[in-house]
Amino acid sequence: MKKITYFFTILFLTSCYSGFAQRDFSTVNIEIIPVKDSIYMLMGSGGNIGISVGKDGVFMIDDEFAALSEKITAAIRTLSDKPIKFLANTHFHGDHTGGNAKFEETGAIIVAQENVRKRLKSDDNTVGLPVITFDSDLTLHLNGNDIMATHVHNAHTDSDALIYFPQSNVMHTGDTFFNNGFPFIDLNSGGSIAGDVEAGQAGLMLTNTDTKFIPGHGQLANYEEYKAYVEMLKTLQENVQNAINNGKTRTEISAMESLSSAFYTDAEAEKSFITGPKIRETIYDSLTEKAE
Ligand SMILES: [Zn+2]
Repeated sequence: MKKITYFFTILFLTSCYSGFAQRDFSTVNIEIIPVKDSIYMLMGSGGNIGISVGKDGVFMIDDEFAALSEKITAAIRTLSDKPIKFLANTHFHGDHTGGNAKFEETGAIIVAQENVRKRLKSDDNTVGLPVITFDSDLTLHLNGNDIMATHVHNAHTDSDALIYFPQSNVMHTGDTFFNNGFPFIDLNSGGSIAGDVEAGQAGLMLTNTDTKFIPGHGQLANYEEYKAYVEMLKTLQENVQNAINNGKTRTEISAMESLSSAFYTDAEAEKSFITGPKIRETIYDSLTEKAE
């Protein structure tokens, strides 16, 4: 059963984030956004990529889809001619790990929380897997930064890590931060609203008002924007919990726009990946543990 769930999750994500499987990636451009010092954000199609360049080589965070690996490599080559030494995955979703096998072939060592490896590995897939895994924390010392990967439990999935560059004061949040709408909480892959809120609080604890944030999706963000997102998560959780406490059913909560309209109205979120009814249902399911 689990394998089927993963398969459909990946299929679902692939279709949501990239159009459809047959999407023509030839029209995608990789945009390079300078973040701080020698850290950059790359935006193409799929999850945002973080890149650190320097004397020790290229350190990369996430890799979008396999069809974009050549374009991503070409973009990195404009920043550094050093090898891509390490590739960290913020979590297992296919729009963040789709290029793993391609970058592994060129010599990158893949690093991730151990559940990324568990979820990517199957009888049919034995390539592009993390070869260095960690349970709760891992630190890499590269390009002048003590790069800290911190596992946040059962947040967007059960495999999320926040990746922080303390000297440069930059954090890649993975999909624990969507800077473009309501959160996506993948309940079928171990995600939960409570864990997503805790991930945000952990992120706030590690950072400060000068930190720059590379979100899983959406534009580069500052501390105020990240803090506002964490506040939104907390408020959505409280609002849905209060409605549950007042005896509201899942169907009623799905229709209660007032629970989430302070952030985005249902009309504003209608064309988004996560709509108003979808986020209210997801939080209801998470709080009542109706999910698998
Ligand atoms: Zn994701």
